[in-house]
Amino acid sequence: MKIGIVGCAGRMGRMLLKQVMETEGCEVSGGTERNGSPFEGTDLGVLAGLSPMGIVATTDTQAVFAASDAIIDFTSPAATCAHAKLAVETQTAMVIGTTGMTPDDVAVVRSCSEKTPIMQAANMSMGVTLLCSLVEQAAAALTDDFDIEIVEMHHKHKVDAPSGTALAIGVAAASGRDVDLDAVSQRVRDGITGERKRGDIGFATLRGGDVVGEHTAMFASEGERIELTHRATDRRIFAAGAVRAAKWLGDKDAGMFNMKDVLGLK
Ligand code: NAD
Repeated sequence: MKIGIVGCAGRMGRMLLKQVMETEGCEVSGGTERNGSPFEGTDLGVLAGLSPMGIVATTDTQAVFAASDAIIDFTSPAATCAHAKLAVETQTAMVIGTTGMTPDDVAVVRSCSEKTPIMQAANMSMGVTLLCSLVEQAAAALTDDFDIEIVEMHHKHKVDAPSGTALAIGVAAASGRDVDLDAVSQRVRDGITGERKRGDIGFATLRGGDVVGEHTAMFASEGERIELTHRATDRRIFAAGAVRAAKWLGDKDAGMFNMKDVLGLK
């Protein structure tokens, strides 16, 4: 399977190149970078931390899409929306890991998925996919005597908050309670906020150092507290999940898929 990596010089892009190169049955068909990137022209093998492979990072996105069976995209929301439209034009499958997408961005991707297969997940790790299922189950089993709070920490370079994964955990909790997350979410608290409202789902964000990603869903009642935690220590887990998803998309028709579909958890 020929897999193209957009944003190939990024933290995840480099991991993805290496993962594709080391996965049996997969080969790197190309890698793109944004216009003006200092990495344009750098060999993809070198970006992956391996030997040169004779293909360099390019800004010719169209050519990479045309040469690929699937594209893996961990870039930025604006870039991902443009890439999804190109995936429809070139009939290329797409795996999207980009977070921080607005509802409008999500709508663009959804409409593209009517014409080409797209798998999107805010977190491609097997552990977080399972965590979301456990949170949904716990939220369904416990009454709103249990206050749900979601705490996350990431490295200091992360630009969006709360993390896409924290929001996905929030969606799972809301779905377990059969409520709409937007109606109950408390994404920031500052100053005299008043007492916590029963049924709210709260978020707290920590940023610092090189933390790959840590998420805890807390269910706190009077007298007891349950905490479900996932700690990522290596970005490789996201790259492995993304390449697994790209292979899984190989025989799929157009549609919108998530990591639960890929892992057969539904
Ligand atoms: P990063 O800033 O290190 O990398 C992004 C790369 O994309 C950069 O090299 C940038 O130059 C490139 N880029 C931007 N616009 C482009 C364009 N139009 N064409 C080609 N390349 C372009 O960021 P990162 O840490 O690798 O994270 C990227 C995204 O992936 C973020 O949204 C992050 O939250 C998300 N992420 C998701 C998961 C997951 O499992 N879903 C895991 C880790 C990170």
